[in-house]
Amino acid sequence: MFKIGCHLSTAGGFLGMGKDALAIGADTFQFFTRNPRGGAAKAIDEKDVAAFPELAEQNNFAKILAHAPYTLNVCATDKNIRKFGLKMMADDLTRMEYLPGNLYNFHPGSPMQQGVETGINLIADALNLTIRPEQTTVVLLETMAGKGSEIGKTFEELRAIIDKVELNDKLGVCLDTCHVYDAGYDIVNDLDGVLEKFDRIIGLERLQVIHLNDSKNPFNSRKDRHETIGNGFIGTDTFKRIINHPKLRDLPFYLETPNELPGYKKEIELLKKLRTEELD
Ligand code: FE
Ligand code: FE
Ligand code: ZN
Repeated sequence: MFKIGCHLSTAGGFLGMGKDALAIGADTFQFFTRNPRGGAAKAIDEKDVAAFPELAEQNNFAKILAHAPYTLNVCATDKNIRKFGLKMMADDLTRMEYLPGNLYNFHPGSPMQQGVETGINLIADALNLTIRPEQTTVVLLETMAGKGSEIGKTFEELRAIIDKVELNDKLGVCLDTCHVYDAGYDIVNDLDGVLEKFDRIIGLERLQVIHLNDSKNPFNSRKDRHETIGNGFIGTDTFKRIINHPKLRDLPFYLETPNELPGYKKEIELLKKLRTEELD
C-alpha cells in the first residue's frame, strides 16, 4: 500500500494533524517535536494522545515521523549547545513514548572545526546516553546535503555512527531525496546504483522512511534547498521511479516541500497518479 504524508503544523495537536492529513489525502505525517529553532516543547495533551491512535488505526496510518529541531546539534563545538541538544533529544524520546512505536528523525549534526571523526564520536555518545532499552521509538539518522560541516553527507558516515551505538537495533535511516542528490548521489541517472551502495554500506533494512523533496540546486551542490515536486533538478520522472521502486515502494514517504496544505494536497494527488498499483 502506498503510504504518503507531509510535514504538518502541530497547532491542532495529533488529532488536528491526523485530520489535516486526511483532508489532503495523506495517511501519515511528519511534525516538529518543538519549535524548529529550539526551545521548550508544548505540554503533552493527554486527551489528544489518547484519542489519536484510534484515528490512525481507522484510517490505516503509517507510522508518524517526529522531526527534532534544527538547533539540536549533539556534536557542536560548544559544550553548552551539545548539552542542550542532549537534553532536547532525551526529552523528545520520553515524550514519543506517549504514542509508542513511532519514529524520531534528527540531523546528525555539524562538528565544525572539530572534524568528522570527533563529530561521529560525539553523535554516537549522545545516542548511547539517550536511547533506552525499553523505548519503542526508532531513532532515524537523516542523510544530509553536506552544507557546512554537516555529518551524514555520505553513507559511510552514517554507518560509522550506527556501528558505535550499543542499542543500534533502535536506529534507522531517513533518506532525503534532495539531500542525497545535493550530496552527490545520482538518484536521477542511477537510482539502482545509489540503492546498491546504500545496501552495501548501511544495509537497506535500516532504511525506514523517505523524505520526498525536489532540489532547487543541481547535482552535488551541497546546498539543501527543497523545491516542490517536479519543479527542481530531480524532476517528476525520478520521483515516479522512487515511489515505485521495488526496494522503496513499501516505505512511507513524507513531503517536506515548500507548500501549505493545498499545495501538499496537489502533490499527493500527483504522486498517487504516478504510483503504479499493479504490485500492491
Ligand atoms: Fe530534516
Ligand atoms: Fe529531510
Ligand atoms: Zn533539507
